[in-house]
Amino acid sequence: GYRSRAAFKITEIDDRFHLFKPGVKVVDLGLAPGGWTQVAVQRGVKDIVGVDLLPVDPLPPAQILQMDFTDPECGPKLIELLGGPPDVVLSDMAPNTIGHRETDHLRIVGLIEAAIDFAIEVLKPGGSFVAKAFQGGGSDELLALLKRNFRDVRNIKPKASRQDSSEVFFVATGFRGR
Ligand code: SAM
Repeated sequence: GYRSRAAFKITEIDDRFHLFKPGVKVVDLGLAPGGWTQVAVQRGVKDIVGVDLLPVDPLPPAQILQMDFTDPECGPKLIELLGGPPDVVLSDMAPNTIGHRETDHLRIVGLIEAAIDFAIEVLKPGGSFVAKAFQGGGSDELLALLKRNFRDVRNIKPKASRQDSSEVFFVATGFRGR
């Protein structure tokens, strides 16, 4: 079985966009407990590295780093472990909310933006980016940033995502390169 319900969301996304195949290098940001990485491994991905604040049970052949992605040393460490630039950057990261609407919102947008900046910095040309985002203020700017850097950008609500949640997924393919 899968370690998370989130596994069904990435399954739907991958059925449509075919990101996971043997030979591609993948980074999974906020991987705990590991559902997305499980799906990628099941679909033949061998070169995959994930990071989370929380510990994750081993998922060979995936490499797992326990670290804060916003630590400036994290990005270079991920690329070092991966042994080269990724074809796919995934982010299901969500910060812990504190219940203060505006602060929570800023933190969510900040984390997604950090994931986008990382993807733009490290992806191979033609590469893909998937991130959990939330409907509402700030997501237009994030989509615009993606559209400047990727040929195709979609805003998707998977069937496996609770319809009453504001969660959406950005799927950007065809990275234009730096
Ligand atoms: N995709 C995962 C799966 O399928 O099992 C579920 C991910 S869960 C929804 C979000 C994760 O993001 C949490 O485990 C959380 O610890 C992690 N996270 C939040 N902020 C983070 C950060 N700054 N650095 C690394 N991980 C972070």
